[in-house]
Amino acid sequence: MRIVLFGPPGAGKGTQASMLAEKTGAEHISTGDALRDAVARQTEVGLKAKSYMDKGELVPDEVVIAIAKERLAKAGESGFILDGFPRTVAQAEALDKALDELGKPLDAVVNLEVDEEEIVWRLSGRRVCPNCGEPYHIESKPSAKDGICDKCGSALVHRSDDQPDAIRNRLKVYNQQTEPVLGYYESKSILKKYPSCWQYSGH
Ligand code: ADP
Repeated sequence: MRIVLFGPPGAGKGTQASMLAEKTGAEHISTGDALRDAVARQTEVGLKAKSYMDKGELVPDEVVIAIAKERLAKAGESGFILDGFPRTVAQAEALDKALDELGKPLDAVVNLEVDEEEIVWRLSGRRVCPNCGEPYHIESKPSAKDGICDKCGSALVHRSDDQPDAIRNRLKVYNQQTEPVLGYYESKSILKKYPSCWQYSGH
């Protein structure tokens, strides 16, 4: 399995990617998770990325392309699931080149479609466990004990880019810089569309 999970912030790319990775043994490659890890460890990449991430801006292409290439080179025979990469046409072109060199072309790009009102509701109520990555939602999937992860007991966090101003900016950035990537893949006939209905609560 060699796929890209594509879609706006809050589409459920991370959730779907984790489930698929568990089922297939494919490598789950999330540039967002890799960047958050670099920020937490205060590496050079992390220090550079933090200000972009807090505002909901894209981290410069060369930084994320280097991260993705490193992870792709390590993926085994079961393949990979890219989550949150590529997010610009330049990243998509760099990905094609890297996969050509590795002799591992993409099987499909799966677009998770979801409307903006739903995204804002999902992200503003989202809480995550910084330790084990388990996602929660204050209305649709609250933890048993307020603010504490059911799985590992760590204190849950409200990501700095899940605050209203940053969410609005992420959506703007998605529409301007990321959506054009769909056209790129459509022209290669490997784009599949899929309505995202992750825990839709009908609010
Ligand atoms: P979401 O899909 O919910 O926005 P991610 O965890 O994928 O969240 O990404 C969080 C942030 O990390 C993004 O807002 C951006 O700042 C940065 N980031 C992640 N992936 C990329 C990428 N491919 N290109 C540029 N920036 C990225």
